[in-house]
Amino acid sequence: MRKYILSALLLLSLSIAAQTSGENPNADHFIYQGYLSDYKLGQASSAFNAIDDMLQTYLPGKEIPLPRELALVSLDQLLHDTDNDATEPFYTFINKRMQRVLKDLDRPVTKGLRIYKLYNDGFIIKSKKATVAIDLIPGGPNDKPFITDSIIYGIAGKCDALFISHIHADHANLNIAKSFAARGKRVIVPNGVWVGVDSLIQPIEVGGVETDIEFEELDLTLHVLPGHQDNIYNNINVVEFHGEGTVAQTGDQWNGPDLSWIVNVYKHYNIDVLMPNCWIHDMEESIRGFNPKLIITGHENELGEHSIDHREAYWVTIKKMEAMPNLNIPYVLMTWGEWYDYLK
Ligand SMILES: [Zn+2]
Ligand SMILES: [Zn+2]
Repeated sequence: MRKYILSALLLLSLSIAAQTSGENPNADHFIYQGYLSDYKLGQASSAFNAIDDMLQTYLPGKEIPLPRELALVSLDQLLHDTDNDATEPFYTFINKRMQRVLKDLDRPVTKGLRIYKLYNDGFIIKSKKATVAIDLIPGGPNDKPFITDSIIYGIAGKCDALFISHIHADHANLNIAKSFAARGKRVIVPNGVWVGVDSLIQPIEVGGVETDIEFEELDLTLHVLPGHQDNIYNNINVVEFHGEGTVAQTGDQWNGPDLSWIVNVYKHYNIDVLMPNCWIHDMEESIRGFNPKLIITGHENELGEHSIDHREAYWVTIKKMEAMPNLNIPYVLMTWGEWYDYLK
């Protein structure tokens, strides 16, 4: 009996606290009048859940069925509404999807490459013999990262090497890099980045001869192409998984003069999958330069400090691809926490 009285008192005090702190006392009954932010949180939560379900029903492929397109465009709308930034529905959505990546990384690849897309321009490519991360970050502010430590470090722990395109925080995270080095895994970064931090964190020396880096134990070769975002070094990482396929991730490639050599990449490398930043300088010429068999764009919906017109959207990527009908190169549009199996 005493227990029930205590419970009742607790409930009463909780409900008084809820009212006095301005929380909606009728939220359990879905009555939102007068509680605008509660309404928006409820709506975002409902929409994120429906999108997650839809994306799991209509998986990534070379064609985008209308329900999947609607899910992606709805995601654009949620992620371009800054009211949703750093809210619980967003954190729940992204962590639920990253948790699936963490789990799926245990599933072996027997042939070809499995390509996972992560926030923001992050990719993990898994072959039979190697699991490589590119631009792996937790995202968000340091005091409340988008992806929880247990998930992002769990993912990092399943990878054999980390390649970083450039120093910007939406691509490079020193703590993640250190976690690789602490496990004896190599991290390849651009010229001048994190010099002297750890012998396994290795800046590429621009102008040096060693831009082809062998990873014999992983049966792969990394070719680093000397790209730029404006005037900062931006490594374009071309990873050749021997016998299984070659992928290229462009980081934040944005530099007019670099196009003079990018248009000739196909003469030197046989690229299977190109993973360009969705806003790369001259998308069409860049694609022609790499001449891949498949395109998987990255960097959509970066929730950074800049204004929403540069968050980039899935619908913009769709329009961009539609505007290049003569390319005849298929593309797979993925969001965070999805993967696609590529067979040569
Ligand atoms: Zn950048
Ligand atoms: Zn970026």
